[in-house]
Amino acid sequence: MPSACLLDSVLDTRTATPSFCLFTIPRTGRSEDVAGISGLPSVERGGEGGIRTLGTLLGYGALAKRCFRPLSHLTKLAAENMAENCRLPIADCRLNWFLMISEEEARAKILESIRPLPPRRLSILEALDCFAAEDYFARLPLPNFDNSAMDGYAVVASSCAPGKRLRVVGEQPAGLDQQLRTSAGEAVRIFTGAPMPAGADAIVMQEDVTREGGEIVVNVDVDPGEFVRRRGCDLGEGQKILAQGERIRAATTALLASQGLSDVMIGGEVSAAIISSGDELVRPGEKLQPGLIYESNSMLLQGLLHNCGAAVRLMEHCRDDEQSLTKALKRAIEHRVVIISGGVSVGERDIVKSTLQSLGAKIDIWRVAIKPGKPFLFGRVGECSVFGLPGNPVSTFVTFLQFVRPAILKMMGAADFGLPKVSAKLLIDLTNDSDRAHYIRGKFEGGIFTPIGRQESHALFGLSQANALLRLATGESRKRGAIVDVHIWD
Ligand code: AMP
Ligand code: MG
Repeated sequence: MPSACLLDSVLDTRTATPSFCLFTIPRTGRSEDVAGISGLPSVERGGEGGIRTLGTLLGYGALAKRCFRPLSHLTKLAAENMAENCRLPIADCRLNWFLMISEEEARAKILESIRPLPPRRLSILEALDCFAAEDYFARLPLPNFDNSAMDGYAVVASSCAPGKRLRVVGEQPAGLDQQLRTSAGEAVRIFTGAPMPAGADAIVMQEDVTREGGEIVVNVDVDPGEFVRRRGCDLGEGQKILAQGERIRAATTALLASQGLSDVMIGGEVSAAIISSGDELVRPGEKLQPGLIYESNSMLLQGLLHNCGAAVRLMEHCRDDEQSLTKALKRAIEHRVVIISGGVSVGERDIVKSTLQSLGAKIDIWRVAIKPGKPFLFGRVGECSVFGLPGNPVSTFVTFLQFVRPAILKMMGAADFGLPKVSAKLLIDLTNDSDRAHYIRGKFEGGIFTPIGRQESHALFGLSQANALLRLATGESRKRGAIVDVHIWD
């Protein structure tokens, strides 16, 4: 009997709060959605012998808020199929639950499914902002030999005092070690970076002496070690200079170069494709008809992808129809990462999920307790990770930073996937009375966080003025003046 089989299939989800269920009849390949927004499907009105609702069966009936398709529709479909082929037991039907999971859970699930890409060797000139694929250790100490920190004279400190006269016995420029020696009463003319002559233990700056022919008169007291850069004082031989997973910054490339290295092993390159979807979208530069808007998420995503080091290889736009999306997706899934903006919600025109499924994608996540960005979707087709981001620009932005960015960083071999965090004083009282973690956009300046613009998912201008995100957990209140952690991206 269908009800019993359905019940069997879902019993193990008792501990979670299912929010959506997809019922696939394998023989036809058709999928039917039975959905409730944040609880389970509501009590079915039509009544279908034996089965009331999954919600009622599981004791979640009271949580149900809205039902998109009556459950009778599902059972009718199942019954029709069973009538046609009585040997097809309903228990064989695939019953996928999409739970509205927490944002942390979603991120953990995504990261769990992602492996770092195979590392590659790259010239240090091109490795900026990539992540080291192995630990690197100093082959050479820094400095590599004792040398002068100033243009001046190499001397024996104990033979110097104001008014003392020293004989200049040679000249040591930077570049070629002249193997010179100095003793008490002598000086060697020396330049910044030049090797210290044997016997000298200090440099006296040229400004502190008076040159008189082949001699100098010292005008100051000189301490041993003054203006001498000792071998290894900055970096010892064998010391770790770069850890696996660390980002290669400008100074890192210089440090690698100081070791004589011309290339470095770094994490793999992430090739990404962007698909924007929506009948209402027009490319910038084209004429805007009434009711249409300019497509802007592709720019946003391209910038965000660039900032985290991914290579954008394909940008597609498709209409709200399966054919158009399928065509775009077929090209896009050749890449490691596909980001689709728009079409992941629950309207009839939100075709991303079903189109992905008909292409054989495994949908791991749909709907996350995050504000903005609830309809976020994550799935996989072969080697390709697919992220469906809600089309409202702020939702696209927040879900990119919270879910796509960490995934890309992991693929690239980064050790740390989080956004930089700073402490800030809150300018106003804030409360999150929604059932989702709320990311407030704001400006972090002078140690203060000020929410900025309209806190609505379409408010692109407000977002453009912001540089920081404050996360408020469900039910969390923070008072004006409180010290909070904010994430910055600029
Ligand atoms: P959707 O997620 O497709 O339901 O879209 C939600 C909202 O975001 C709608 O107001 C869309 O017009 C808007 N939107 C979707 N995609 C884009 C885009 N690529 N650029 C600008 N706005 C978009
Ligand atoms: Mg749309």
